[in-house]
Amino acid sequence: MRSRTALSVLGLAIVAASSAALVAQPRRAEDFVARAAEALGGASRLRAVRNITVAGYGEGAYMNGGGNISASTDAPQKWISIPEYEKTIDLEHGRVRVRQRNHQNFVFAGEAGYLGGPNAAVTYLDGDVAFNAAPNGRWVRATEQAARARRVDMLTNPVAIVRAALNSPAVVSHVRNEASSQLADFTLATGEKLTLSIDASGLPAWVRWMAHDENLGDVTFRTSFTGYLPVKGVMLPMGYNTVIDFRNIVQNKLYVDKNAVDEAIDDLSSPAEVRSSALPRPPAPTPDATPVGQGVWLLHGNGGANSVLFEFADHLTMFEAPSSQAWTKAVIDRARATVPGKPLTEVVVSHHHFDHTGGIRQAMAEGLTIIAHKGTEGLFREIALRKGTIAPDALGANPRPLKFRAVDDHLQLKDATMQVDLYHVVSNSHMAEGLFAHVPSSRLSVQGDFFDVGWELYWWQNTYADNIAYRRLQVDTDVPVHGRVLPIGQVLQDIQRMTKAAEAICVRTQSAGVFSAGCPVKVPSPIMESPAR
Ligand SMILES: [Zn+2]
Repeated sequence: MRSRTALSVLGLAIVAASSAALVAQPRRAEDFVARAAEALGGASRLRAVRNITVAGYGEGAYMNGGGNISASTDAPQKWISIPEYEKTIDLEHGRVRVRQRNHQNFVFAGEAGYLGGPNAAVTYLDGDVAFNAAPNGRWVRATEQAARARRVDMLTNPVAIVRAALNSPAVVSHVRNEASSQLADFTLATGEKLTLSIDASGLPAWVRWMAHDENLGDVTFRTSFTGYLPVKGVMLPMGYNTVIDFRNIVQNKLYVDKNAVDEAIDDLSSPAEVRSSALPRPPAPTPDATPVGQGVWLLHGNGGANSVLFEFADHLTMFEAPSSQAWTKAVIDRARATVPGKPLTEVVVSHHHFDHTGGIRQAMAEGLTIIAHKGTEGLFREIALRKGTIAPDALGANPRPLKFRAVDDHLQLKDATMQVDLYHVVSNSHMAEGLFAHVPSSRLSVQGDFFDVGWELYWWQNTYADNIAYRRLQVDTDVPVHGRVLPIGQVLQDIQRMTKAAEAICVRTQSAGVFSAGCPVKVPSPIMESPAR
């Protein structure tokens, strides 16, 4: 009786509160926007702003934190350097252009990626139309997904987002207090949602939104605005820092050199050829299965990296779930169709890097056991627990507990018909928690990121040959995740050539007074005191 009374009182209170909120909401939203506008220079000044250009430089977290040497939460973050960055927001016409250059602050395989390419990357949004400048001087329409991301990016600027709310107050809702800050949600007509926080003085402190990631599912981004300075009567921040809710990684940093307001800007309107072209759609993945040994197939094709299929007596094992969920789904389907009647039960992961695990959520959702180095278990447990709600996501649609089989130094998968040995990759500075596979019957080495025939530079010297020698393996053929199947002799020759190219780049940059990551190229120490032969 007593609890029932308490309940109805509580029920009444909720009804009263929500009807009060309904009445108060529009006024609170207007107050929120008015406070922010006042702090940034006043509503009339903001309404009159025609354009803003933010120029500076920065850094980005490589693969959102999924490209480090180990999968540990304490692994040092690899950074992409962004030496030039410029964002022009044409508020008058609803257009934005981002121009940037970047290069890796760590050793990797392409010269342009390592030193920076000759052309800046230039992306545009004009209303609903996203497009890019291609290196050949032409224009290319970008995907609907790119348009959505750029609409959000346009609003990760305090003046742009508050000005948008001044012009259409209905986008603002759910004003609430959080400590000394006030928060409000912004919902665009096109469906994108952002949350803006303003501090006690009314200045925007941060903006937060969600985006889908193939590896991580739903990811929350939060960009903080700091160091406001006035420009032509408008307050603009001198620093942008973006953190994601995956390990609180600083995903992006922007150090501002210059904020420009209402200076002459280029015409950012979309060319007619772009407007009239269809939205690009990636081709449906259609992987092929090519036999590379007795009971071993390379699964390869358009739009994704390779996987490898092993046929055991009563089940199938796949090596690698790369690229994306859709690609890995197609590869899994191809694996099942290649050997009908035997269940695919497990997938070996070469290493945790996000290009090699872009389909891991698909593999988890299919109930496959993940076989990987023991050092990666924590990361894969984190990934298995992450939600996927805002875009098609295999694990979001079908959450499953992670099935994980840890490999330390060596794991033999063997039955009457097949033997596959998995070995920990040693003597390698690209991955400390990698596995490669050896199939003794066909003398195959199956590997991810030991070697890719498409690489230009090689920084790891003898690592592939060292690992083969250390394990005393008989290898005739390299079966790679990236690239194509090649005789091992050719692979080792190509490695020599790519190593010389890396050494040459070090000589070139040092003679120009530039001291790049990884230079000079190091010869790895021997794995053993005296290699057993
Ligand atoms: Zn890698």
